[in-house]
Amino acid sequence: MVERQIVRRGICNPDVLAAMRQVPREEFVPVELREFAYDDIPLPIGNEQTISQPAIVASMIEAAELRPGDRVLDVGTGSGYAAAVAATIAGHVHSIERHAELVDSAREILERLAICNVTVHLGDGTMGLAEYAPYDAIIAAAGGPRVPAAWREQLAIGGRIVMPLGRDLHYQRLIKLVRRNQQDYDQSSLGEVRFVPLVGADGWPA
Ligand code: SAH
Repeated sequence: MVERQIVRRGICNPDVLAAMRQVPREEFVPVELREFAYDDIPLPIGNEQTISQPAIVASMIEAAELRPGDRVLDVGTGSGYAAAVAATIAGHVHSIERHAELVDSAREILERLAICNVTVHLGDGTMGLAEYAPYDAIIAAAGGPRVPAAWREQLAIGGRIVMPLGRDLHYQRLIKLVRRNQQDYDQSSLGEVRFVPLVGADGWPA
């Protein structure tokens, strides 16, 4: 999977490649779909949600420029896979999910794999998670109509936000925001993507 889908797409950060090799994706997909776990496709995980395509997870984590010791906010835990990959590089990942069933199953998988530097929270990630801010990186696996105000506030100076952003519910542009100082952010675009909608108080209405 790493050679065929990830290296071939130009991802070359050695920490990201090592993390993708280390985390067993089959553990995060439903048992009946395990034979597809290493294909380059998103897979259903229940509650109308999907585990993201491996190459997209890798490119988002590469764009987030994670370093050892970083504190990360992962919005949209889903299966917990992206949080697990991020946690292989960063210091601690706070991951937030709005569906209680997905929170329960992600916690169970992460515990089984003994990944103890991910904390899964139940709630609306569009409000961020002020309790553990500031974050060196905020990564979102669901697309919203704007960058939530709380994410800008809870980002450390020099921190990165990587999220799908768009006026359409299902088609977005992957953007990267870097906080330069108290009030300035640099924004760049990383291409077109398709993510599930970011549903919440500072996202799309339910
Ligand atoms: N990173 C996940 C991808 C899951 S898909 C993985 O690796 O499996 C995106 C997830 O975002 C879905 O589970 C969806 O329920 C969740 N989501 C959408 N809006 C949210 C919000 N406002 N707060 C928290 N989670 C949200």
